[in-house]
Amino acid sequence: MLAEISYGRCGRRRPDADVGGLMIAMLMCLVVLSGCGGSQDPNAAATANSATGLPPDLHSCTRLDIRYGPEVMLNSGDDKSLFSPEEIASVTRSEPVLVEDPEKIGAFAGFVASGTLISPKMLPYGPTARISCFRNEALVASLSAVHDVVIILDDNQGFRYSGSYSYLGWRGAVMAEVLPLTPQLHAFQMRRACAHNLWSLNWNIKDCWEREKTDIPPAEWCDALIRYQAGVSPGIEFRALVHPAGKEGECHYAMNVNCRADSPADMVLLFETKAGWNQHGGPGLFTFDNHDPRGGLVLLNDGTVKFIRTEEDLKQLRWE
Ligand SMILES: [Zn+2]
Repeated sequence: MLAEISYGRCGRRRPDADVGGLMIAMLMCLVVLSGCGGSQDPNAAATANSATGLPPDLHSCTRLDIRYGPEVMLNSGDDKSLFSPEEIASVTRSEPVLVEDPEKIGAFAGFVASGTLISPKMLPYGPTARISCFRNEALVASLSAVHDVVIILDDNQGFRYSGSYSYLGWRGAVMAEVLPLTPQLHAFQMRRACAHNLWSLNWNIKDCWEREKTDIPPAEWCDALIRYQAGVSPGIEFRALVHPAGKEGECHYAMNVNCRADSPADMVLLFETKAGWNQHGGPGLFTFDNHDPRGGLVLLNDGTVKFIRTEEDLKQLRWE
């Protein structure tokens, strides 16, 4: 039993589930978004103030047009099993998402104004979002949002934003500020954050299996992972058991009692269920209710994460 195992300190670094693969995707996105300029008014008003090194004043704006790059949905090819082509297209299509709420725009303007100028040598590659800021129909400024930096495109000035922000698994102040402006993406970001939990849990389970040469007892799998994590990475918060829509102390994932280290690659290892702790069993525990549109995520033994939308899809999975 795991309770009798002494846990060695591995010193191996856990993959960062929140931002894994982001840099590659950002590079790809630079190419995609570089053609999304729109029609810039040559007589546009305020842009970044090159002389003072201050961010542009966006308080007079009446509309923000936000275009997201593909990595706002996809960190890697694996993510394609999370979203349908139609869902991806709905976010990365050529039409921007519009923000016209004065309160939201005012809050965003205040945020942008709080940035600190950084050296041109520090400008990161590839926008996660490109934001065109309009006063009525006149373009005031075009911005690129990259992790914790905003780049003012007119003069290529960059401003950094600090703070321990996070939004559904995104770290970095800028995306934590931009994504809530567009609630249309909330459901997709929730699904993405949930998948990151499962990828992280997969890594921890496999690491535990490999080091301890034993299976994790399904009846205590949540407790076992916490003990294991505390042994190999003391002091590091382990949040992967908590669903992005869940509360601390609850776990919306269950372990398939039939899955072991040597089980087939396509066997279900973990799957979504209702709130609980140390839940284990089979497809009868699966729930479609944690996400909207309805569906739930499963983690297969080879690390694949899939979004399951129908009972038929659920039956097609290997459970034993
Ligand atoms: Zn979920």
